[in-house]
Amino acid sequence: MRTISAALKGLSIAAAVGAIFVAAPGTASAATPDVVKATSAGAGSQTFALTIDDGPSPTWTNQVLDLLKDREVKATFCVIGDHARQYPDLIKRIVDEGHSLCNHSMHHVNPSTQSPDQQRAAIQEASDAIHAAAPGAPINYYRAPEGGFTQDATQYAASQGMQPVGWSVDTEDWRLPGVDGIFQNYKKEFQGGGVILMHDGSEENDRSQSVEAMGNILSDLANNGYTDDLPAVLG
Ligand SMILES: [Zn+2]
Repeated sequence: MRTISAALKGLSIAAAVGAIFVAAPGTASAATPDVVKATSAGAGSQTFALTIDDGPSPTWTNQVLDLLKDREVKATFCVIGDHARQYPDLIKRIVDEGHSLCNHSMHHVNPSTQSPDQQRAAIQEASDAIHAAAPGAPINYYRAPEGGFTQDATQYAASQGMQPVGWSVDTEDWRLPGVDGIFQNYKKEFQGGGVILMHDGSEENDRSQSVEAMGNILSDLANNGYTDDLPAVLG
């Protein structure tokens, strides 16, 4: 404490508190209400960001995490609060293996169908469920269920340090178009700096096509010189 006090000597209390808040690990990062659709390196860069929605699920998330470990790729998991509460060990595994967390609401209800209070509660409860599983883990992103971003939801997410994140590449894996169909959807839409949308939940859904296609997509990205990045955080 003596070192910190000395370092802060001369700063106002407000500035000092701000400095500590920003520097402390696990605290919220800055964010804006804008819905980002590109990586930190930006559109046109030799990067990609893989985002994986609706988990965690013991069957599929574990397979995805094994694949990502094997390929040495870091992804962003947009998790549902209900599932975080059900499978806290998977939230811990996501964090322990260096991936990023994204709040995908408590019950996966499209915010455009909810009152402002309900929207805020859906976000806050999901963050609480995530933090009950992984105390202090940063949740740097928010993704609205079904992409139903509203001003209320994006502003609230940003106020909690979560950058709203959309996507630029919809693999439509949830439609189960087959492994090759998912790959072709990616191939049609991917451009450098893109944010790719895939799914690893829920437990009752069959994500075997998604897992297999993800392997093929990661091979294609690597073969074409693209490296993994995270969605941009503005502000
Ligand atoms: Zn979803």
